[in-house]
Amino acid sequence: MKFLIILKNLNYSLIMSNSRTFLMKKLIAICPVCKKQIYGRDIDINHIDTKKIRSWPLRYVHCHSDDNTPLHALTMYIDANFSVRGREVSDFIKIQK
Ligand SMILES: [Zn+2]
Repeated sequence: MKFLIILKNLNYSLIMSNSRTFLMKKLIAICPVCKKQIYGRDIDINHIDTKKIRSWPLRYVHCHSDDNTPLHALTMYIDANFSVRGREVSDFIKIQK
């Protein structure tokens, strides 16, 4: 019985780590402004502890720029399966500490 439980837990953690590996490589969004492709690894998906998220969708702000586009912030609304359900872009950014 105990062995079965351990096996089940092992299976569960294997599935979890596999899906996290999959999510790292998953294309989750394309920025509507500069067409940058955002992958799971770009939002540090492995460091997001879903137990600490109080309300879904998770709002994740990704700031980036390229040679043709000045710095802008892409807000992604991410559900519990790490699928992006909505996007918003802001060109006005100030990060003050
Ligand atoms: Zn962009």
